[in-house]
Amino acid sequence: MKISTAFQGKMPVLSYELFPPKTETAVKGLYDHVQQLMTFQPSFITCTYGAGGSTRNKTLEVISEVRRRFSVTVASHLTLVGSTIDDLRQYLTEAKEAGIDGIVALRGDPPKNSPEFRMTPGGFQYANQLVDLLAREFPEFSVLVAGYPETHREAPNAEVDLDNLKRKVDAGAHVIVTQLFFENQDFLRFRDRCWARGIRVPIVPGILPPQSADQLTRLGQLCGAKLPHDLIERMNAQSDLEGQANVGVEFATEQVRELLAADVPGLHFYVLNQSRATTQVLAQLGFQPKLG
Ligand SMILES: Cc1cc2nc3c(=O)[nH]c(=O)nc-3n(C[C@H](O)[C@H](O)[C@H](O)COP(=O)(O)OP(=O)(O)OC[C@H]3O[C@@H](n4cnc5c(N)ncnc54)[C@H](O)[C@@H]3O)c2cc1C
Repeated sequence: MKISTAFQGKMPVLSYELFPPKTETAVKGLYDHVQQLMTFQPSFITCTYGAGGSTRNKTLEVISEVRRRFSVTVASHLTLVGSTIDDLRQYLTEAKEAGIDGIVALRGDPPKNSPEFRMTPGGFQYANQLVDLLAREFPEFSVLVAGYPETHREAPNAEVDLDNLKRKVDAGAHVIVTQLFFENQDFLRFRDRCWARGIRVPIVPGILPPQSADQLTRLGQLCGAKLPHDLIERMNAQSDLEGQANVGVEFATEQVRELLAADVPGLHFYVLNQSRATTQVLAQLGFQPKLG
C-alpha cells in the first residue's frame, strides 16, 4: 500500500526508521533485526540519508533490500547536502526504478565542521523546494517531511518555523514525521498550532525508546530534544545497562500510550537498527505480533 493512502484507515500507521550500517557485518545484523520488527507488521520502513550524501548508494541499497526481503513498503530519506538539482533528479529516478514508494524530503544538517548549511551551487536551499520538485516531476512518490515539536534549532521562533512547515505541505507533502521528543505536551501543542494554520496532513510523532542515560545525553546534544531529567535519574539509579534499557522501554510505553489516547495517526519509531526496545514497547501496548 502507498504511504500516502495508508493513513486513510482507522488504525494508527506503524513505521520504522533505519540508518545505513557502516560495515557488511552490521548490514547482515540489520536484516535479522528487521525480521523481528516485521512481526508487528509495519506499514512502511524508511532509511536515512547520511551527512553530505555520504550514504547515497548505501541508503538505496539497504532500503531496496528491505523491500525485496520483507515485501514491505519503503521510503528513502533524501537531503539537499552536496547535490545539484540534477543529482537529486538522478537519485529520484533510481529510487523510482527500484520500486521505492516514498521520499522523506529533507534539507539535511550542515557537515560536522561547518556551522551552517550552505547550499550546493546548482542545488536547493530549503526542503520545500525538493517537495516542489517531487510534486512537479515525480508525482508517483509519497512525500514525507520533517516537523519539529520543539522548533527547528535555526528558526527564529516557532511561528516562523510553522510557516516554513506549511510551505512544505502546500508544496505537496503528504505526511509530517516529527523529530523525536520526550514530552508529549510539546507534540500536542505543536499539533494544535499546525491545525490552527490549516495543516491537514497526518502529523506522526517520532518515538525513540531511550536505552541508556548516556544515549539520552548524546541525543539531547545531537537533535536538541529537551531531556526528561527524572528519567535520566531513574536510569542512573539502575545497577546496569539492562536495567536502564528496561526503564527506557517503560517510559516509551507510557509515552506512546498517552499519544494513542490523543488519537495520533501513526507511530514512527527511530529503532536505531535494533529491534528489542521497539518490539517490547509494542508488545506492552498490546500490538499483536504476527505468528509464523
Ligand atoms: C523525521 C526526520 C528525518 C530526518 N532524516 C535525516 C536524514 O536522513 N539525513 C539527514 O542528514 N538529516 C535528517 N534529518 C535532520 C534534518 O535534515 C535537519 O533537522 C535539518 O537541519 C533540517 O531539515 P528540514 O528538512 O526540516 O529543513 P527545512 O524544512 O528546509 O528547514 C530548515 C530551516 O530553514 C527554515 N526554512 C525552511 N524553509 C524556509 C524558507 N523557504 N525560507 C526561510 N526559512 C526557511 C526552517 O524554519 C528551518 O529552521 C531528519 C529529521 C527528521 C525530523
